[in-house]
Amino acid sequence: MFFQQIPGRSDIKNYLQQTIRQQRVPHAQLFWGPEGSGALPLAMAFATELMCEQPGPEGACGSCPSCRKNAHWAHPDVHISFPTIGAQTKSADVIQVWRDGFQKQPFITMADWFALQEADNKQGGINKDECLHMLRTLQMKSFEAAKKIWIIWGAEYLGKEGNRLLKMIEEPTPDTYMILIADELQDLLPTIVSRCQLLKLKPYPETEIRDHLVASYQMAPDEALQIAHYAQGDMHHAIQLASEDIRQQAPLLWLPWFQYCLQGRTAQIVELNGSIEQLGREKVKQWVQFGLGFLRTLLLLRKGVDITSSLSDAGQKLIQFGMQGLTEDTIIRMMEDISDLESQVERNGQIRLLLLARYVRWREWINLQRSVKAA
Ligand SMILES: [Zn+2]
Repeated sequence: MFFQQIPGRSDIKNYLQQTIRQQRVPHAQLFWGPEGSGALPLAMAFATELMCEQPGPEGACGSCPSCRKNAHWAHPDVHISFPTIGAQTKSADVIQVWRDGFQKQPFITMADWFALQEADNKQGGINKDECLHMLRTLQMKSFEAAKKIWIIWGAEYLGKEGNRLLKMIEEPTPDTYMILIADELQDLLPTIVSRCQLLKLKPYPETEIRDHLVASYQMAPDEALQIAHYAQGDMHHAIQLASEDIRQQAPLLWLPWFQYCLQGRTAQIVELNGSIEQLGREKVKQWVQFGLGFLRTLLLLRKGVDITSSLSDAGQKLIQFGMQGLTEDTIIRMMEDISDLESQVERNGQIRLLLLARYVRWREWINLQRSVKAA
Protein backbone atom coordinates (compact mmCIF):
# COMPACT_ATOMS: atom_id res chain seq x y z
CA MET A 1 0.00 0.00 0.00
CA PHE A 2 1.25 3.48 -0.89
CA PHE A 3 0.01 6.89 0.23
CA GLN A 4 -0.92 7.72 -3.38
CA GLN A 5 -3.47 4.92 -3.37
CA ILE A 6 -5.38 6.52 -0.51
CA PRO A 7 -7.73 9.35 -1.48
CA GLY A 8 -7.26 12.75 0.20
CA ARG A 9 -5.89 13.02 3.74
CA SER A 10 -2.85 14.99 2.59
CA ASP A 11 -2.45 16.67 6.00
CA ILE A 12 -2.03 13.32 7.73
CA LYS A 13 0.24 11.94 5.00
CA ASN A 14 2.47 15.04 5.14
CA TYR A 15 2.66 14.87 8.90
CA LEU A 16 3.62 11.19 8.87
CA GLN A 17 6.24 11.69 6.14
CA GLN A 18 7.71 14.55 8.09
CA THR A 19 8.17 12.37 11.17
CA ILE A 20 10.20 9.98 9.00
CA ARG A 21 12.32 12.73 7.43
CA GLN A 22 13.01 14.29 10.80
CA GLN A 23 13.71 10.88 12.33
CA ARG A 24 11.20 11.34 15.09
CA VAL A 25 8.81 8.49 14.39
CA PRO A 26 7.30 7.47 17.74
CA HIS A 27 7.91 3.83 18.65
CA ALA A 28 4.30 3.36 19.66
CA GLN A 29 1.50 5.19 17.88
CA LEU A 30 -2.23 4.89 18.16
CA PHE A 31 -4.22 5.78 15.05
CA TRP A 32 -7.62 6.66 16.38
CA GLY A 33 -10.46 7.36 13.96
CA PRO A 34 -14.02 6.37 13.19
CA GLU A 35 -14.88 3.69 10.64
CA GLY A 36 -14.18 4.81 7.09
CA SER A 37 -11.60 7.40 8.15
CA GLY A 38 -8.77 5.43 6.54
CA ALA A 39 -6.76 4.54 9.64
CA LEU A 40 -5.87 1.06 8.38
CA PRO A 41 -4.74 1.96 4.83
CA LEU A 42 -2.84 4.95 6.26
CA ALA A 43 -1.03 2.69 8.71
CA MET A 44 -0.20 0.19 5.96
CA ALA A 45 1.09 2.93 3.66
CA PHE A 46 3.04 4.50 6.49
CA ALA A 47 4.78 1.14 7.01
CA THR A 48 5.77 1.22 3.32
CA GLU A 49 7.18 4.75 3.73
CA LEU A 50 9.11 3.80 6.83
CA MET A 51 10.60 0.70 5.20
CA CYS A 52 11.52 2.25 1.82
CA GLU A 53 15.24 1.88 1.06
CA GLN A 54 15.53 4.85 -1.34
CA PRO A 55 12.90 7.41 -0.38
CA GLY A 56 12.69 10.41 -2.71
CA PRO A 57 11.23 13.88 -2.15
CA GLU A 58 7.76 12.41 -2.70
CA GLY A 59 8.32 9.67 -0.14
CA ALA A 60 8.48 5.93 -0.79
CA CYS A 61 10.16 5.13 -4.13
CA GLY A 62 7.83 2.29 -5.11
CA SER A 63 10.61 0.31 -6.79
CA CYS A 64 13.11 -0.82 -4.14
CA PRO A 65 12.83 -4.46 -2.95
CA SER A 66 11.14 -3.30 0.24
CA CYS A 67 8.51 -1.21 -1.57
CA ARG A 68 7.83 -4.05 -3.97
CA LYS A 69 7.08 -6.39 -1.08
CA ASN A 70 4.99 -3.82 0.74
CA ALA A 71 2.97 -3.27 -2.43
CA HIS A 72 1.58 -6.78 -1.83
CA TRP A 73 1.53 -6.58 1.95
CA ALA A 74 4.19 -9.25 2.00
CA HIS A 75 7.21 -7.69 3.73
CA PRO A 76 8.57 -10.19 6.29
CA ASP A 77 9.27 -7.41 8.79
CA VAL A 78 5.88 -5.73 8.53
CA HIS A 79 3.51 -7.71 10.73
CA ILE A 80 -0.14 -7.28 11.40
CA SER A 81 -2.46 -8.57 14.10
CA PHE A 82 -6.24 -8.38 14.03
CA PRO A 83 -9.11 -10.09 15.80
CA THR A 84 -9.69 -13.72 14.88
CA ILE A 85 -12.32 -16.27 15.80
CA GLY A 86 -11.28 -19.01 18.21
CA ALA A 87 -8.84 -18.99 21.12
CA GLN A 88 -6.08 -20.74 19.13
CA THR A 89 -6.37 -18.91 15.81
CA LYS A 90 -3.48 -16.52 15.22
CA SER A 91 -3.61 -13.74 12.63
CA ALA A 92 -0.99 -15.54 10.53
CA ASP A 93 -3.36 -18.52 10.20
CA VAL A 94 -5.90 -16.41 8.30
CA ILE A 95 -3.56 -13.83 6.76
CA GLN A 96 -4.40 -14.78 3.17
CA VAL A 97 -8.12 -14.23 3.75
CA TRP A 98 -7.28 -10.91 5.34
CA ARG A 99 -4.97 -9.84 2.49
CA ASP A 100 -7.63 -10.67 -0.09
CA GLY A 101 -10.20 -8.66 1.87
CA PHE A 102 -7.88 -5.68 2.29
CA GLN A 103 -6.84 -5.74 -1.36
CA LYS A 104 -10.47 -5.70 -2.45
CA GLN A 105 -11.42 -2.95 -0.03
CA PRO A 106 -8.68 -1.04 1.85
CA PHE A 107 -11.45 0.69 3.84
CA ILE A 108 -12.57 -2.71 5.13
CA THR A 109 -14.59 -2.53 8.37
CA MET A 110 -14.46 -4.89 11.31
CA ALA A 111 -17.96 -6.11 10.38
CA ASP A 112 -16.67 -6.94 6.86
CA TRP A 113 -13.71 -8.75 8.35
CA PHE A 114 -15.83 -10.86 10.69
CA ALA A 115 -18.10 -11.70 7.77
CA LEU A 116 -15.06 -12.87 5.76
CA GLN A 117 -14.12 -15.12 8.66
CA GLU A 118 -17.68 -16.46 8.68
CA ALA A 119 -17.88 -15.52 12.33
CA ASP A 120 -21.68 -15.66 12.45
CA ASN A 121 -22.29 -14.45 15.97
CA LYS A 122 -19.04 -15.69 17.48
CA GLN A 123 -16.96 -13.15 19.35
CA GLY A 124 -13.61 -12.25 17.86
CA GLY A 125 -10.50 -11.24 19.72
CA ILE A 126 -6.75 -10.71 19.60
CA ASN A 127 -5.93 -13.68 21.81
CA LYS A 128 -3.18 -14.71 24.19
CA ASP A 129 -1.37 -16.84 21.58
CA GLU A 130 -1.25 -13.90 19.20
CA CYS A 131 0.20 -11.60 21.87
CA LEU A 132 2.86 -14.16 22.86
CA HIS A 133 3.75 -14.68 19.20
CA MET A 134 4.09 -10.92 18.79
CA LEU A 135 6.42 -10.60 21.79
CA ARG A 136 8.57 -13.54 20.67
CA THR A 137 8.90 -12.23 17.12
CA LEU A 138 9.75 -8.71 18.20
CA GLN A 139 12.50 -10.02 20.47
CA MET A 140 14.15 -11.78 17.54
CA LYS A 141 16.29 -10.09 14.88
CA SER A 142 14.39 -8.69 11.95
CA PHE A 143 14.39 -10.82 8.79
CA GLU A 144 15.51 -8.42 6.07
CA ALA A 145 15.12 -4.79 7.03
CA ALA A 146 16.86 -2.90 9.80
CA LYS A 147 13.51 -2.31 11.48
CA LYS A 148 10.34 -4.12 12.38
CA ILE A 149 6.80 -2.82 12.27
CA TRP A 150 3.83 -4.33 14.01
CA ILE A 151 0.36 -3.05 13.19
CA ILE A 152 -2.49 -3.99 15.50
CA TRP A 153 -5.80 -3.42 13.75
CA GLY A 154 -8.75 -3.41 16.13
CA ALA A 155 -6.68 -2.80 19.26
CA GLU A 156 -9.97 -2.72 21.19
CA TYR A 157 -10.11 -6.47 20.70
CA LEU A 158 -6.97 -7.02 22.80
CA GLY A 159 -9.08 -6.85 25.94
CA LYS A 160 -7.09 -7.72 29.02
CA GLU A 161 -4.49 -9.52 26.87
CA GLY A 162 -3.27 -6.01 26.13
CA ASN A 163 -1.53 -6.11 29.53
CA ARG A 164 1.00 -8.51 28.01
CA LEU A 165 2.08 -5.82 25.56
CA LEU A 166 2.51 -2.96 27.99
CA LYS A 167 6.23 -3.45 28.48
CA MET A 168 6.85 -3.80 24.74
CA ILE A 169 4.88 -0.64 24.03
CA GLU A 170 6.76 1.28 26.71
CA GLU A 171 10.25 -0.02 25.99
CA PRO A 172 10.21 -1.54 22.52
CA THR A 173 13.15 -3.55 21.25
CA PRO A 174 15.48 -1.37 19.11
CA ASP A 175 14.07 -0.29 15.76
CA THR A 176 10.63 -1.63 16.52
CA TYR A 177 7.62 0.46 15.60
CA MET A 178 4.16 -0.38 16.79
CA ILE A 179 1.02 1.11 15.26
CA LEU A 180 -2.23 0.43 17.05
CA ILE A 181 -5.51 1.20 15.33
CA ALA A 182 -8.81 1.72 17.14
CA ASP A 183 -12.25 3.22 16.52
CA GLU A 184 -13.08 3.69 20.18
CA LEU A 185 -10.63 4.63 22.92
CA GLN A 186 -12.99 3.72 25.73
CA ASP A 187 -12.62 0.01 24.95
CA LEU A 188 -8.82 0.17 25.22
CA LEU A 189 -6.79 -0.27 28.39
CA PRO A 190 -5.95 3.26 29.59
CA THR A 191 -2.43 2.03 30.28
CA ILE A 192 -2.04 1.29 26.57
CA VAL A 193 -3.49 4.62 25.44
CA SER A 194 -1.19 6.56 27.76
CA ARG A 195 1.89 4.80 26.37
CA CYS A 196 1.13 5.62 22.74
CA GLN A 197 1.45 8.78 20.72
CA LEU A 198 -2.09 9.55 19.64
CA LEU A 199 -2.91 10.38 16.01
CA LYS A 200 -6.53 11.39 15.78
CA LEU A 201 -8.25 10.97 12.43
CA LYS A 202 -11.37 12.97 11.77
CA PRO A 203 -14.09 11.66 9.45
CA TYR A 204 -13.29 12.31 5.77
CA PRO A 205 -14.15 15.83 4.55
CA GLU A 206 -17.12 15.66 2.17
CA THR A 207 -15.15 17.31 -0.62
CA GLU A 208 -12.51 14.55 -0.48
CA ILE A 209 -15.19 11.87 -0.64
CA ARG A 210 -16.78 13.69 -3.58
CA ASP A 211 -13.47 13.96 -5.43
CA HIS A 212 -12.78 10.26 -4.90
CA LEU A 213 -16.21 9.20 -6.14
CA VAL A 214 -15.89 11.46 -9.19
CA ALA A 215 -12.42 10.13 -10.02
CA SER A 216 -12.96 6.45 -9.29
CA TYR A 217 -16.66 5.88 -9.93
CA GLN A 218 -17.23 8.33 -12.81
CA MET A 219 -19.94 10.10 -10.87
CA ALA A 220 -21.28 13.57 -11.52
CA PRO A 221 -19.86 15.96 -8.87
CA ASP A 222 -23.31 16.95 -7.66
CA GLU A 223 -24.40 13.36 -7.21
CA ALA A 224 -21.11 12.43 -5.56
CA LEU A 225 -21.47 15.27 -3.07
CA GLN A 226 -24.94 14.08 -2.22
CA ILE A 227 -23.59 10.64 -1.36
CA ALA A 228 -20.69 12.20 0.55
CA HIS A 229 -23.21 14.13 2.62
CA TYR A 230 -25.19 11.00 3.32
CA ALA A 231 -22.09 8.98 4.24
CA GLN A 232 -21.11 11.55 6.90
CA GLY A 233 -17.37 11.28 6.47
CA ASP A 234 -17.31 7.47 6.23
CA MET A 235 -15.42 6.62 3.03
CA HIS A 236 -16.34 2.95 3.33
CA HIS A 237 -20.03 3.78 3.40
CA ALA A 238 -19.67 6.26 0.53
CA ILE A 239 -17.92 3.68 -1.66
CA GLN A 240 -20.64 1.18 -0.86
CA LEU A 241 -23.33 3.64 -1.90
CA ALA A 242 -21.43 4.62 -5.03
CA SER A 243 -20.95 0.99 -6.04
CA GLU A 244 -24.67 0.37 -6.12
CA ASP A 245 -26.72 0.96 -9.20
CA ILE A 246 -27.59 4.63 -9.33
CA ARG A 247 -31.33 3.98 -9.41
CA GLN A 248 -30.92 1.92 -6.26
CA GLN A 249 -29.69 4.89 -4.29
CA ALA A 250 -32.62 5.63 -2.09
CA PRO A 251 -31.21 8.85 -0.63
CA LEU A 252 -31.16 10.45 -4.05
CA LEU A 253 -34.92 10.03 -4.36
CA TRP A 254 -35.50 12.14 -1.27
CA LEU A 255 -34.79 15.49 -2.88
CA PRO A 256 -37.34 15.21 -5.73
CA TRP A 257 -39.93 13.75 -3.35
CA PHE A 258 -39.57 16.65 -0.92
CA GLN A 259 -39.56 19.18 -3.71
CA TYR A 260 -42.79 17.79 -5.25
CA CYS A 261 -44.32 17.76 -1.78
CA LEU A 262 -43.52 21.45 -1.22
CA GLN A 263 -44.87 22.27 -4.67
CA GLY A 264 -48.01 20.14 -4.28
CA ARG A 265 -47.35 18.12 -7.44
CA THR A 266 -49.57 15.13 -6.66
CA ALA A 267 -49.20 13.25 -9.96
CA GLN A 268 -45.40 13.30 -9.70
CA ILE A 269 -45.56 12.18 -6.07
CA VAL A 270 -47.75 9.20 -6.94
CA GLU A 271 -45.30 8.13 -9.62
CA LEU A 272 -42.28 8.63 -7.40
CA ASN A 273 -43.90 6.70 -4.53
CA GLY A 274 -44.03 3.71 -6.85
CA SER A 275 -40.28 3.97 -7.56
CA ILE A 276 -39.49 4.32 -3.87
CA GLU A 277 -41.61 1.26 -3.06
CA GLN A 278 -39.71 -0.77 -5.63
CA LEU A 279 -36.46 -0.13 -3.79
CA GLY A 280 -37.51 -2.54 -1.04
CA ARG A 281 -37.79 -2.09 2.69
CA GLU A 282 -34.09 -1.75 3.54
CA LYS A 283 -33.59 1.03 0.98
CA VAL A 284 -36.71 2.80 2.14
CA LYS A 285 -35.12 2.97 5.58
CA GLN A 286 -32.11 4.69 4.00
CA TRP A 287 -34.49 7.08 2.29
CA VAL A 288 -36.06 7.87 5.67
CA GLN A 289 -32.64 8.41 7.25
CA PHE A 290 -31.57 10.76 4.50
CA GLY A 291 -34.85 12.65 4.77
CA LEU A 292 -34.38 13.01 8.51
CA GLY A 293 -30.87 14.34 8.01
CA PHE A 294 -32.13 16.82 5.47
CA LEU A 295 -34.93 18.08 7.72
CA ARG A 296 -32.45 18.34 10.59
CA THR A 297 -30.25 20.57 8.41
CA LEU A 298 -33.28 22.69 7.64
CA LEU A 299 -34.20 22.94 11.31
CA LEU A 300 -30.67 23.93 12.35
CA LEU A 301 -30.67 26.57 9.67
CA ARG A 302 -33.94 27.92 11.02
CA LYS A 303 -32.21 28.17 14.38
CA GLY A 304 -29.35 30.08 12.79
CA VAL A 305 -26.76 27.28 12.54
CA ASP A 306 -25.36 27.28 9.00
CA ILE A 307 -24.26 23.84 7.85
CA THR A 308 -25.59 23.94 4.32
CA SER A 309 -22.25 24.32 2.59
CA SER A 310 -21.88 20.55 2.64
CA LEU A 311 -24.97 20.00 0.50
CA SER A 312 -25.02 19.68 -3.26
CA ASP A 313 -26.31 22.53 -5.46
CA ALA A 314 -29.69 20.84 -5.83
CA GLY A 315 -29.80 20.31 -2.07
CA GLN A 316 -28.88 23.95 -1.39
CA LYS A 317 -31.66 25.20 -3.64
CA LEU A 318 -34.19 22.96 -1.99
CA ILE A 319 -33.04 24.07 1.44
CA GLN A 320 -33.62 27.72 0.46
CA PHE A 321 -37.00 26.79 -0.92
CA GLY A 322 -37.89 24.99 2.32
CA MET A 323 -36.57 27.88 4.42
CA GLN A 324 -39.02 30.25 2.79
CA GLY A 325 -41.99 27.96 3.12
CA LEU A 326 -41.68 26.05 6.39
CA THR A 327 -41.89 27.09 10.02
CA GLU A 328 -39.88 25.39 12.76
CA ASP A 329 -43.03 23.66 14.06
CA THR A 330 -43.86 22.20 10.67
CA ILE A 331 -40.31 20.90 10.21
CA ILE A 332 -40.43 19.19 13.63
CA ARG A 333 -43.82 17.62 12.81
CA MET A 334 -42.43 16.33 9.54
CA MET A 335 -39.41 14.85 11.31
CA GLU A 336 -41.63 13.01 13.79
CA ASP A 337 -43.90 11.83 11.02
CA ILE A 338 -41.10 10.48 8.89
CA SER A 339 -39.44 8.72 11.87
CA ASP A 340 -42.64 6.72 12.33
CA LEU A 341 -42.43 5.60 8.73
CA GLU A 342 -39.42 3.43 9.51
CA SER A 343 -41.27 1.29 12.06
CA GLN A 344 -44.38 1.15 9.87
CA VAL A 345 -42.30 -0.13 6.99
CA GLU A 346 -40.92 -2.78 9.38
CA ARG A 347 -44.44 -3.90 10.16
CA ASN A 348 -45.00 -4.65 6.48
CA GLY A 349 -47.05 -1.60 5.72
CA GLN A 350 -47.62 -0.76 2.07
CA ILE A 351 -44.87 1.71 1.31
CA ARG A 352 -46.73 3.43 -1.53
CA LEU A 353 -49.74 4.15 0.68
CA LEU A 354 -47.66 5.16 3.68
CA LEU A 355 -45.87 7.71 1.52
CA LEU A 356 -49.08 9.04 0.02
CA ALA A 357 -50.61 9.48 3.49
CA ARG A 358 -47.58 11.53 4.47
CA TYR A 359 -47.78 13.65 1.38
CA VAL A 360 -51.45 14.46 2.09
CA ARG A 361 -50.69 15.29 5.73
CA TRP A 362 -47.65 17.42 4.89
CA ARG A 363 -49.63 19.35 2.29
CA GLU A 364 -52.27 20.10 4.98
CA TRP A 365 -49.60 21.36 7.37
CA ILE A 366 -48.01 23.51 4.68
CA ASN A 367 -51.41 24.99 3.73
CA LEU A 368 -52.31 25.47 7.38
CA GLN A 369 -49.22 27.52 8.11
CA ARG A 370 -49.93 29.58 5.00
CA SER A 371 -53.42 30.42 6.25
CA VAL A 372 -52.02 31.26 9.69
CA LYS A 373 -49.49 33.56 8.05
CA ALA A 374 -52.18 35.19 5.90
CA ALA A 375 -54.43 35.77 8.91
ZN1 LIG B 1 11.25 2.11 -1.83
